[in-house]
Amino acid sequence: MIQQPFVVTFDPKTGFSDDAPKPISQRRLSNMRNMFLDEAARAAMEESENALVYEFFEMGIPDLATELAFGTSICYPGKVGEEFFMTKGHFHEVFDCAETYICLSGKGIMLMETPDGKWAAPVLTPGKMVYVPGGWAHRSVNIGSEPFVTFFNFRGDAGHDYATIEEKGYRKLVVERGGKVEIVDNPRWK
Ligand code: MN
Repeated sequence: MIQQPFVVTFDPKTGFSDDAPKPISQRRLSNMRNMFLDEAARAAMEESENALVYEFFEMGIPDLATELAFGTSICYPGKVGEEFFMTKGHFHEVFDCAETYICLSGKGIMLMETPDGKWAAPVLTPGKMVYVPGGWAHRSVNIGSEPFVTFFNFRGDAGHDYATIEEKGYRKLVVERGGKVEIVDNPRWK
């Protein structure tokens, strides 16, 4: 239980905080096996560069229902085949827990879907906030040329269920075709 108010500092553009726990969690192409449609392209990129796809940190708030976890997610620009760099995406373990994401910089999509087939893909730019309701899987996708930085906030005990997405994938993919951003069906979705 946190007994005292406290203040942390965030860079308003990069989202990085000197107060963030170290090391910051990082996900490289080697951590994203089978998450992009073009797995052969991903494997080749892992072999040559193994680029950093995204990183994130929470501020170490206790995982209690009475607390609010918060921190920053940074998804870097890039593509695997025609598919934009993205985070793994997750449901919350406490399924009905909502979350807010405020875009600090860059341009991205918060790709969301529910188990019964609803989906949403709002574009986020600095000054936009998305409310992710309970029961919606959520994934950040960078559709720009700069880091896509978001500040998030959720109930402290919400937890993360990555396994469902790792197993089933997302119904929709965000790809670039003919120089345009398109949302298309995922042919591998289970
Ligand atoms: Mn979440």
